[in-house]
Amino acid sequence: MQAAPDYHLLAKPAGAACNLGCKYCFFLSKENLYAPRESPLMGEEVLETYLRQLMESSPGPQVQVAWQGGEPMLRGLDFYRRSVELAEKHRQPHQRILHTMQTNGTLVDDEWAAFFKENGYLVGISFDGPREMHDAYRIDKQGRGSFDDVLRGWNSLRRHGVDTNVLCTVNAANQDHPLEVYRFFRDELQARYIQLIPIVERATEQTIAFANGGWGGNRGTDRPLYRQEGSLVTERTVSAEAFGRFLVAIFDEWIRRDVGEVFVTTFDVALGSWMGQHNSCVVAPTCGAALTMEHNGDVYSCDHYVEEAHKLGNVKDASLEALVSSEQQRRFGQAKFDTLPAYCKQCPVLFACYGECPRNRFIATPDGEAGLNYLCAGYKAFFQHIDAPMKAMAELVRSGRYAEEIMQASPNGSPGPLPATA
Ligand code: SF4
Ligand code: SF4
Repeated sequence: MQAAPDYHLLAKPAGAACNLGCKYCFFLSKENLYAPRESPLMGEEVLETYLRQLMESSPGPQVQVAWQGGEPMLRGLDFYRRSVELAEKHRQPHQRILHTMQTNGTLVDDEWAAFFKENGYLVGISFDGPREMHDAYRIDKQGRGSFDDVLRGWNSLRRHGVDTNVLCTVNAANQDHPLEVYRFFRDELQARYIQLIPIVERATEQTIAFANGGWGGNRGTDRPLYRQEGSLVTERTVSAEAFGRFLVAIFDEWIRRDVGEVFVTTFDVALGSWMGQHNSCVVAPTCGAALTMEHNGDVYSCDHYVEEAHKLGNVKDASLEALVSSEQQRRFGQAKFDTLPAYCKQCPVLFACYGECPRNRFIATPDGEAGLNYLCAGYKAFFQHIDAPMKAMAELVRSGRYAEEIMQASPNGSPGPLPATA
């Protein structure tokens, strides 16, 4: 079978089901796409069909089996034991498998942690900072903060030596405390890999009141399906300028002392851009290689577009290779470039931004063209701020040296002299 273009797929073994009810988590509303009595749990038939097709259609030697939610751990440990067996059964001789999971961490105990370690899982834990910032929005269905449970799960993973990363959303509650957040991860959690994801919750006149009340909790059947529409944002949404300041403050601390020790995805991706590579869909000219699969095998163009209009098909009826290579998916990815406003095309940091993700493009440019990214002001300030050190780091890497040598750089950002032994 011919391999699909290089792609990444996030699978949801428990659909939108979650034991928490985080206020900004509009993914909880995706249960509306399925019949009320339909189980959100992935069955073995979908699991095996998916894994077989994933192995058949993955072009590279490394295949990532990536689980996300809702809360993927709700699917239970036996499911993942079976998943590891089936992935091994369908793996081709030249393929290596990397199992990953993004979880809220509250259900991790020693048994899970031992399983993750034994099978080489990379586990991402959602943490929004120290207790008061984390508990602002990351609450359970009764409204109680989840900090203590997440910390217990994190410590269990660390005790077992599991590879971990922290996924931190940047939102109205933590946007003004970048260094507190960063130092908490670096010094208290001893995290070495950190992802910073801006919270932008869009809403319309019809949905804003509900959305401001929060997507989690037991809110009955009145929860509308979240769609990428509307130009209003919730009270929890990060402000563009504050997001820029947040990134700048953390970058300035990182560049002085943590390069090569702490890996912040935004900074790694930016270095790629300064070296002429696009290592993330959000800053690439086009996208369309990051798909998502629901518990029943339905495949959608992107995790942020789990909506009827962006459903590509189901792995029980069509091959993943066909869905990934479909004309619908090609058009989805090409639209990222085709809908870029003229304002972006003239932007000095276009090469590092490319209008970011289309889901956030809902404001007007200064001359009134639609489709500018809501976070533009923040990204522009950040990318302009890091230009000199990024150029210097890119030069170091290109000349075979280490990016961390930037920490001995002169104040204007140029790298120091070559060491005596290179
Ligand atoms: S819509 Fe956004 S997140 Fe999805 S693939 Fe495109 S750039 Fe990536
Ligand atoms: S910084 Fe703003 S103007 Fe520049 S490419 Fe990004 S979104 Fe467009």
